[in-house]
Amino acid sequence: MNYLSRRCKSILPYTAGEQPQDKKYVKLNTNECPYPPSPEVEKTVRDFETARLRLYPDPENTKLVSVIAQKHGLAPENVFVGNGSDEVLCMCFPAFFDENDTVAYADVTYSFYKVWAHMFDVKSKKIPLDDEFKLLHTDYLSMQGVNGIIICNPNAPTGTALGRLDLLKIVETNPDKIVIVDEAYGEFASCSVAGRVCDYPNLLVVKTLSKAYALAGARCGYALGNKALIDGLKTIKNSMNSYTVNAVTEAVAIAALSDKKYYAELIDKINAQREETADALRQLDFEVLPSSSNFIFARHKRISGSEIYFQLKENGVLVRHFKSDRISDFVRITIGTKEEMKILLTEISKIVKRKN
Ligand code: PMP
Repeated sequence: MNYLSRRCKSILPYTAGEQPQDKKYVKLNTNECPYPPSPEVEKTVRDFETARLRLYPDPENTKLVSVIAQKHGLAPENVFVGNGSDEVLCMCFPAFFDENDTVAYADVTYSFYKVWAHMFDVKSKKIPLDDEFKLLHTDYLSMQGVNGIIICNPNAPTGTALGRLDLLKIVETNPDKIVIVDEAYGEFASCSVAGRVCDYPNLLVVKTLSKAYALAGARCGYALGNKALIDGLKTIKNSMNSYTVNAVTEAVAIAALSDKKYYAELIDKINAQREETADALRQLDFEVLPSSSNFIFARHKRISGSEIYFQLKENGVLVRHFKSDRISDFVRITIGTKEEMKILLTEISKIVKRKN
């Protein structure tokens, strides 16, 4: 007897980046922040009143919602919070699409979109990136035959970003479709359209505290949009789990969002390290896509992506390699600390030298 549903049996789940426990790696494979969160976060955890854990958290996360609204110049009714942006993005599918609807997204983008589409019986229309792995906004203007669009901006795993005006043109020319913009890496770029959600009833922006705020372990993400979209997400959430953001995470997220100075410096540091690392890789005969994120996507002129991945892993450095056709030559490297980037470059130089 097989007790699983047809849906469960047919689904191919998303594969998250490795989190190996066997030994200590220089871990550059899941786009986590290499630096700790703000000292305000540490203080909040230390001072957290344990007795509060007896109670359920505020199901509306009122305080956190109000801090996020303020940060983006929006009203609390424009904010929806969740257990990481993966959860928020997942809830977008039942909130905005019906069975057999079609959602458009790039052929090379965050590979979770196709898993959720499959899970909710939504069809996918994949729009190829151009030959330089750039997303062409003109491919998405006044789209026909789709019910919604997801744009990851900056895109993952390529790191490239679409300018704000081009992105808003997509939103403007598709007024009858929802446009979901996944800004998981938005803090490292200057392309955010978060502040514009009240100007466009079809624009939903999804963000996370996992990357730029160094809180991947706390699980906090959020969506910004007009009230009708946010209410739709709340309906789905309250049909699944009333308490998605726990009390500790709520406190920690508020602390992080209050420390603008700490994070502005951290983001500058990561962006500078990214440019240094990209230059060094180019010197070693890599083609590096222009990145506006906390990672770079690069391929070597003579060495395959899988060889670089395996050889680095053997020498204690983890990067991400994707097997899919168009990008199997590439590796995606998260920007780490200065020391970590030094180790990465030393190990990569050895691989290149052996091959020459
Ligand atoms: N969107 C993109 C593009 C991502 O790379 C990730 C991280 N894997 C997420 C969303 C989800 O991040 P989280 O659930 O940690 O907020």
